[in-house]
Amino acid sequence: MKNNTTRFYKIDLADHPSGYELSELIKEFLRPSEYQVLNGRSDSKKQKEIPVPESSEMVEISLAGKELDRDQAKQWLFRELCRETGYRPEWGTLTGVRPVKMANELMDLKGHTPEEVRGILQDYYYLNEEKADLVMETSAVQRFVTAQPAGRTFGLYIGIPFCPTRCIYCAFTSNQQPYAEVQRYLQALLREIDAVGKRCRELEIRPETVYFGGGTPTTLRAPELDLLLSAVETAFDMSSVREYCVEAGRPDTITRDRLEVLQRHGVGRISINPQSMNDGTLERIGRTHRSEDIRKAFRIASPYRDMIINSDIIAGLPDENYDMFLQTLRKVIDLGPQNITVHTLAVKRSSRLHEMDAEYHYAERETGRMVYDARRILARHGYRPYYMYRQKHMAGNFENVSYAKPGTESIYNIRIMDEHQTIIALGAGGISKAYYGPSNRLERVPNVSNYSIYIERIDEMIERKNQKLYRPFALEAGETGNC
Ligand code: SF4
Repeated sequence: MKNNTTRFYKIDLADHPSGYELSELIKEFLRPSEYQVLNGRSDSKKQKEIPVPESSEMVEISLAGKELDRDQAKQWLFRELCRETGYRPEWGTLTGVRPVKMANELMDLKGHTPEEVRGILQDYYYLNEEKADLVMETSAVQRFVTAQPAGRTFGLYIGIPFCPTRCIYCAFTSNQQPYAEVQRYLQALLREIDAVGKRCRELEIRPETVYFGGGTPTTLRAPELDLLLSAVETAFDMSSVREYCVEAGRPDTITRDRLEVLQRHGVGRISINPQSMNDGTLERIGRTHRSEDIRKAFRIASPYRDMIINSDIIAGLPDENYDMFLQTLRKVIDLGPQNITVHTLAVKRSSRLHEMDAEYHYAERETGRMVYDARRILARHGYRPYYMYRQKHMAGNFENVSYAKPGTESIYNIRIMDEHQTIIALGAGGISKAYYGPSNRLERVPNVSNYSIYIERIDEMIERKNQKLYRPFALEAGETGNC
């Protein structure tokens, strides 16, 4: 980016109806301290005053008097900001988190060919060639799922909101509690599983995928893990399940007795998430395991040859440079997981890292080069991108991409990003989403995220689902009233 330390931007969005999206686009170019958004000059007193540094050169950009729809306004603002800042965001005018979903819908709902979609991404939304390639390749790989309507199936998510320690970037529901609390939580979760399973059987709807996430599901010891999986298999009709996944995650929780339980229940996917293979970094980010524990977890998992393993790594971790990141990538490739997910560090407000350094994600890093080269290295080793999403507050506004060896892609991950299937999420922090096919929209039905409140209010969580979640299926089946 051109040096703008002496420039201050006043941007008048003139009460445009797409003001939120335009504001999101501005964030791709400028830090909060570098600009102020106005909505009509006479209205400016209502805006939060940003102190303008002395000797700043004022740049004024205004949409006033321009009759532009949402996309035209974004294009115009994008061009203005490119010209004024000398910076061109790689994702163009796209500010949403699901660019692949958009590409899929351009084909499925608007009838465009893949070639036409690529043209739209580059010429209309101003993506650069590399990002347009990434979207189109990902879209092509996941068509074996997204081209199939989900019918009367859903994705089942079950959350275990406990981890051995808290990572400094964590913004999830993750608690560090004595095991007695984990067991108390499990009792409430079993009630929810039983009640929701009964309703799904009545409606004759079945999970297509089952995904245990968190937190760290393997915080549960083998006997409780066994109890939980048995409860799910009893409560739900599992005859349509195509994928059964337990996101183990933390290498320090992967033990032979737990894997034995998972195998006995037919679990076909786990994750072993190193994040980094650098011991200094692991300590800095608050993980209790070391790189040797990651290797050990792979050794423990090696006899379970039918299980697909995913490994997460993160680009842009504190004090990690390009070489350290690529070293991690190469070491993880050598360990041989079928899926590797490359995250770009997102610093959310609720994380400890944000408390330590609120401006972390604005520091100049080599993250762009890391993710760019990771894609090429992974391609050379036979991995293809199969799902991706962009995240807000991300170092350099990059994306998270999961790569897979052909035939090992996760259906659950593809469906959740594609948003054309109902997700039933159980446990604290679970956000269910009811999908209405005819209007192509989702309605969120959240559980509370605090595990202790979840236990107290478990009946209310079950009733909330009865009121709202099953409605699309009940409507299809011709039921009336509350479902
Ligand atoms: S393992 Fe994941 S859920 Fe657990 S503390 Fe770390 S980031 Fe949070």
